[in-house]
Amino acid sequence: MQRVLTLSSNRKPLMPCHPARARRLLREGRASVFRRQPFTIILNDRDDGNVQPVDCRLDPGSRTTGIALVAQGEHGDRLVWAGELTHRSAAIKQSLDSRRSLRRARRVRKTRYRKPRFDNRSRPQGWLAPSLSSRVAQTTTWVRRLTALTPVNAAQVETVRFDTQKLENPDIAGVEYQRGTLFGEELRQYLLTRHNHTCAYCRGQSNDPVLNRDHVLPKALGGTDRVANLVIACRTCNEAKDNIHPQRWIAQLSTSNRRVDRVRADNMARIWSGWRPSLKDAAAVNATRYATGNAVKTLIPDTRFDSGGRTAFNRKQQGHPKAHWVDAACVGERGSSVRISPQHQPLAIKATGWGSRQMQRVDRHGFPRTSTKGARNVQGFQTGDRVEAVVPKGRKAGRYVGRVAVRSSGSFNIQSANGVIQGINHRHCRVIHQADGYTYN
Ligand SMILES: [Zn+2]
Repeated sequence: MQRVLTLSSNRKPLMPCHPARARRLLREGRASVFRRQPFTIILNDRDDGNVQPVDCRLDPGSRTTGIALVAQGEHGDRLVWAGELTHRSAAIKQSLDSRRSLRRARRVRKTRYRKPRFDNRSRPQGWLAPSLSSRVAQTTTWVRRLTALTPVNAAQVETVRFDTQKLENPDIAGVEYQRGTLFGEELRQYLLTRHNHTCAYCRGQSNDPVLNRDHVLPKALGGTDRVANLVIACRTCNEAKDNIHPQRWIAQLSTSNRRVDRVRADNMARIWSGWRPSLKDAAAVNATRYATGNAVKTLIPDTRFDSGGRTAFNRKQQGHPKAHWVDAACVGERGSSVRISPQHQPLAIKATGWGSRQMQRVDRHGFPRTSTKGARNVQGFQTGDRVEAVVPKGRKAGRYVGRVAVRSSGSFNIQSANGVIQGINHRHCRVIHQADGYTYN
């Protein structure tokens, strides 16, 4: 069960409490609502309390980042709060691309070709594209918010998919290659990354989503468990290949007329001749995760980095379902034993941004289409505020709760769960949660 974040009367973070307890405290007037999202109460009569160590664990992803707060109690670790943060990398890239193309079109429209003058552009070391740095910024925003509301004293961040050092360790015995060991998970993550999460033989032609590791030279024919003899293959290809020698399989496939068999023959021939996809892009893939980890470290000094192989191993060992927030709870060495209630519902957080700097809407040629944008703040309301509107009479009589879009006329639109309600006068509205760049549900 998602716990309620709790502050003492002097705003010191206390242990998150059970929702039933929070309801009782609010009913008895011993606490007040401090913040709607994440739901936080502030105690009116206590300025201190016992706190246990709380771990902030992160599983940074390209679209969604899992966030978990894990309390270390006497009876082991338990998940107290979880969230899934959805980033807006695609929206950022799209708007920058559209700005670039509009500017370029405007620049060249009535100009002869002029060759580039000089290349004096440079980027600082560790530069990330805006779509990527937004992921880092959004994650640190949430870590900062949560550290102000809970007694977080340490952090665990999944910074890499697999641990290269473990894979290079020559002391690994054959038995450890088996599925269900920590090394086996690291190896699986490595192979999945190397083969870009597609079957090495059919390249996804079979449409089989089940991917497993496969011995290029079957073990029955003397193939080893070494990384060089392993690829990722779908179940269909795995069963079709069976225990046949690669060269014999290529010969068999070459006689087939099926398209998938010809793809398989081509890829098997390349793999048999020693070709493997390169991993040089893996560092770039991990750059954003590392930047996230380092940014978190500036907020929480006791931050440790760990691998996705360990996360997957921890999650599978405990039989937890696959989800970003569950993965976050399983990050790191301590992630091997975390109690997660089956009814736990994480907070869904979606980054919405803060509107645009563009002063006017433009047509498809980049020329102004509307009048200049009005003030951001109208009658004390901002686009993005969560409001409650109670309309006493008329056609739109009723109570509406949702995200408001302000108009300078003072007649607002409210995006509620049942759709958009237009033309609600500001006099009927009341702010529940001020715009903070995110939406929740
Ligand atoms: Zn396949």
